[in-house]
Amino acid sequence: MSGPATGAGVDPARVAALHAEAVATFRAQRPRSRALHERAGEVMPGGVPMSWMVKWPGPWPTFVEQASGAHFTCVDGIDHVDLCLGDTGAMTGHSPAATVAAVTAQLSRGITTMLPGEDAVVAAEVLAERFGLPLWQFTLTATDANRHLLRYARHVSGRAKVLVVDWCYHGSVDESLATLDGDGQVVARRGNIGAPVPPSQTTVVVPFNDVASMERALAVGDVACVLLEPAMTNIGIVLPEAGYLAAVRELCDRSGTLLVVDDTHTLCAGPGGCTAAWGLRPDAVVVGKTIGGGVPAAAFGMTTDLSERVRRSVELEDVDVGGVGGTLAGNALSMAAVRATLTEVLTLAAFESMTARAVRWTDGVQAGIDAAGLPWQVTRLGCRAEYTFAPTAPHDGAEAAAADDFELQQLMHLQALVDGVLLTPFHNMALMSPDTTDADVDRHSESFAALTRALVG
Ligand code: PMP
Repeated sequence: MSGPATGAGVDPARVAALHAEAVATFRAQRPRSRALHERAGEVMPGGVPMSWMVKWPGPWPTFVEQASGAHFTCVDGIDHVDLCLGDTGAMTGHSPAATVAAVTAQLSRGITTMLPGEDAVVAAEVLAERFGLPLWQFTLTATDANRHLLRYARHVSGRAKVLVVDWCYHGSVDESLATLDGDGQVVARRGNIGAPVPPSQTTVVVPFNDVASMERALAVGDVACVLLEPAMTNIGIVLPEAGYLAAVRELCDRSGTLLVVDDTHTLCAGPGGCTAAWGLRPDAVVVGKTIGGGVPAAAFGMTTDLSERVRRSVELEDVDVGGVGGTLAGNALSMAAVRATLTEVLTLAAFESMTARAVRWTDGVQAGIDAAGLPWQVTRLGCRAEYTFAPTAPHDGAEAAAADDFELQQLMHLQALVDGVLLTPFHNMALMSPDTTDADVDRHSESFAALTRALVG
């Protein structure tokens, strides 16, 4: 080691030098992406179709030519193993054959009609069976599904607030873009753009894995629902401690608070997400992103009790204007995609294979960490895994956030990218699809081992 180490056990000067090398390689590799990005800058802020895409590592984003299975090729002709998989949107692998066949057939039979069809019935039946909740509604995004459930919860309970855990992420849902400051006060999350009201008016925030804080917060009696990922996945992976989720359920029961489980990412645990894998009993559950194989679709399931309370309190005349809806929600194309994806792609056998690849990825990363002697750790949940720059697995979101090192993270992502591997942006996450092979996983392990060696060498 050439200089003083950071908390991540690496020398910042070495990180900067390796980053400069990776940038030079990237520049030489990707002139066509550069040209497209320059052209895009004339018509899209940042040269990207959505603002967060500027956060990809490297001097410009990589533009995609085509994606198939676990790989994509960029416009410069470079093959990449895709371990990001559209941040779960393509957990099925890109363009899975069964989904493509169903969508192709539906394209010439009507894309959107505002009327239901049989595909929606089958999709809801499959979801009910897998998640153990009887009644389902469809949206286009998990964000919408979460928003709708927050409205339902407020509406039926007459309570104003939503409880989330510190450093959660549930999509662009106003109530959830809140964190705790150093004094334990609820504040807008850093980067929160144009919050409609200070989040302390709408939101209660408690640390994950902290039963006592949850108990105190729910005892006040002003929380309509708890919105919770059963394991945090958006600030690294933070697993629940033994008994935590059962305690949350018990506290919700005791305080008459609805429990909404957001299984959008934790679907990685199996066909029924963590809800089924861990025997959770939520009042409502959200799934999204990948259930249409990448075609926009999401869903939320409810107990009969919650559904009845909503039905009794909403007049037919007002049902289209109450803030729960979406013209394209439940459209024929999405529903054909969901039916095919659930029944033919996201099968139990697929999850077994995906999970085996994630175990291999975790072992490869651990071997790289051990060989370099770095104080880092790797955590896996089903077919998703993530390493953090800390010696032990985080216990809550704040701990996970504190372990982050933006410059080091940018280097890890950029080096992987120039070696032909795409990681999930914003953290060090990898996701396996049914098409991901051992060789795909090993491409990452080799790149990771070389970089960690260089970091300490
Ligand atoms: N829930 C969770 C747990 C998520 O991670 C995300 C997005 N990363 C969402 C909901 C929102 O999904 P979307 O952006 O597709 O609406």
